Amino acid sequence: MEQLIEKLASTHDLTDDELRCLIEDGSCDDLLFQKAEALRQQIYGKDVYVRGLIEISNYCKNNCYYCGIRRDNRQVDRYRLTPEQILECCAEGYDLGFRTFVLQGGEDPYFTDDLLCALLKTIKSRYPDCAVTLSLGERSRDSYQRLYDAGADRYLLRHETASPAHYNKLHPQELSLENRQRCLFQLKEIGYQVGSGFMVGSPYQTTDCLIADLRFLQQLQPAMIGIGPFLTHQDTPFREFENGNTQLVLRMIAILRLLFPYALLPSTTALGTADPLGREKGIKAGANVVMPNLSPVSVRKKYELYDNKICTGDEAAECRMCLSRRMESIGYKIVVDRGDVKSPERTKTPS
Ligand code: SAH
Repeated sequence: MEQLIEKLASTHDLTDDELRCLIEDGSCDDLLFQKAEALRQQIYGKDVYVRGLIEISNYCKNNCYYCGIRRDNRQVDRYRLTPEQILECCAEGYDLGFRTFVLQGGEDPYFTDDLLCALLKTIKSRYPDCAVTLSLGERSRDSYQRLYDAGADRYLLRHETASPAHYNKLHPQELSLENRQRCLFQLKEIGYQVGSGFMVGSPYQTTDCLIADLRFLQQLQPAMIGIGPFLTHQDTPFREFENGNTQLVLRMIAILRLLFPYALLPSTTALGTADPLGREKGIKAGANVVMPNLSPVSVRKKYELYDNKICTGDEAAECRMCLSRRMESIGYKIVVDRGDVKSPERTKTPS
């Protein structure tokens, strides 16, 4: 095991069989996390980038079996933010030191290209020093192009799982891995900084699925890779399944850091929900981004992708301060910066 970790840390790759060993055997996690944290510090130091997450709508036309805001969940109190409300979140976020705004939501047809383009232009003209990230699911290439031309810099779209058979167990027929992946490659082609990722411990996931996830990411080479545990939501078809394992999430973060030295790896809210110190542990395993909630408190509880989601009661300022304290408690610091991905050409190459 030690040799495998050494090999991964020096060559940034492993064979499938080697990955399988590492994923399934947690006996050397301490060493693995140390190597990942050391590499992270070589490239990103002790800096933690922040993204202000604005949950713009919980309407969704899709019916993903794991997701709390799926179309068929009649228990959800649906909301959408107006452009004015979104701009207020940005104003508050800017004052709190955020230089990236992430507009995330269900696939809500209300957010047409015209509406989003106008909104993007306003945000970019008011905050030219900020990056705007969209996370609004699958749209047409033309739509992605228009949003990019209107000023969107980045797009987050997790591939969720890179195994087609597994994908079909998590989603109804009308959704396909093929289309998801096509969207990701289109976004890259257009020029977005792309974020992808997957859930860990989703129902029916095997080690082979996780290996496929890593291989797909090696193909895609996204700027950001977001992962978190699958967490049960009581009003979904997956209500009987158990939460994903936190330790496995941390192990996968460390493996991702060693496979993708320069990647932006968020320590996610789902990880913080699964374990009260999950986000701190994620950073210690090689992550370098956190995404505090900037949504109005009045809607926080309604954007419930999974049960017991944290940070639904705090004002944006409290959320931001709480995370600053948490990062400082482990010797890291949140920086006021757009937090763009670093590239080997612009940094001294780590050994
Ligand atoms: N509609 C957008 C945003 C989805 S929400 C899109 O399709 O990309 C963002 C992420 O939350 C999803 O990509 C998924 O990986 C994660 N998520 C959804 N339900 C979850 C659950 N029950 N447990 C853990 N993560 C979940």
